[in-house]
Amino acid sequence: MLALSLWAAGCAMTDAKFPVVVGASITKSDLVPCSDYGSATNYAGGPYYIRDPETGRVARRHEGIDFCTAPGAEVLAAATGTVVQLVREDPHRGGRVTIRTRIRYPDGAITQTLFVDALHIKPREDLRVGDDVVAGQVIGHTEPPGKLQIGSRSHVHLSAGPGPWTWITHTDPNRFWQKGAGIVTCFDAGNPPTDTQIVAPVRC
Ligand SMILES: [Zn+2]
Repeated sequence: MLALSLWAAGCAMTDAKFPVVVGASITKSDLVPCSDYGSATNYAGGPYYIRDPETGRVARRHEGIDFCTAPGAEVLAAATGTVVQLVREDPHRGGRVTIRTRIRYPDGAITQTLFVDALHIKPREDLRVGDDVVAGQVIGHTEPPGKLQIGSRSHVHLSAGPGPWTWITHTDPNRFWQKGAGIVTCFDAGNPPTDTQIVAPVRC
């Protein structure tokens, strides 16, 4: 009985850290990501383990969705909004662009504004904090593989949450796809998303 209650407590902590896990549909999605939100394995199938070199913080479950691409591939804004954070380059993880979207969503008892973060990318050189971007617009390019937190494949790590620090407070981006929760949606210029929907950050 004691063991059972300890196990249950462990579970509750895990669930609190990943409050909503929708996951991407393998059959309905336009594009299946190479690593999904909440996964305990990385895109290569090994155990997920990231230690932040500055803070020492360790994550054992994947707090975003990885879209594997060729190095130098175009990275698209996943949602319409305003650029609020821009890192040109980082020796461990590459650059990032964070967009404050126009998406409002329930998070427990309160309503939050969604921020989306594209990580492991080279932001477009003319992009500035404060710029407004439209979903599907090119915001940068993927980095080559090899950095500690990029690993062996070029990819965009798409994370989402109620603030610009989406690696600390996060939610499953799969909640917000244009075609519905769990259905990863590719950008289609002939059928763009509304301001309250997201699309994949890579072309497909
Ligand atoms: Zn990732």
